[in-house]
Amino acid sequence: MTLFEKIAAKVIPAKILAEGDDWIAFRDIAPQAPVHFLIVPKRCIPRINEAAPSDAALLGTLFAAAASTARQEGLGESGYRIVINNGPDGGETVPHLHLHVIGGRQMTWPPG
Ligand code: 5GP
Repeated sequence: MTLFEKIAAKVIPAKILAEGDDWIAFRDIAPQAPVHFLIVPKRCIPRINEAAPSDAALLGTLFAAAASTARQEGLGESGYRIVINNGPDGGETVPHLHLHVIGGRQMTWPPG
């Protein structure tokens, strides 16, 4: 099991914000902003580069879950950023696809 599969299975604790049949939202353990949570599919896709056309519906569900959880966290009006890190240059550290949702402060561009 990946780390995030263990969190989804409630084997490892996390601050869970919301959950659907095939996804879970929980707070990042090392927040980079006042609000920082992850949207994770319960079925492991290692990274976006390995998503298949048959994953399209799940990918759509993850983005909808990111937006609904962001609204739930009070970011709907102020805004937020969604980030996916892919591979070594992308800064990926956990090989289980996840969307970072970051908000509660002004984001900068370009990202680091
Ligand atoms: P990545 O670097 O792969 O894009 O993102 C992985 C994220 O998972 C990081 O932001 C990191 O802080 C978070 N993370 C790593 N281990 C844990 C954990 O055990 N619990 C939680 N809630 N987040 C974790």
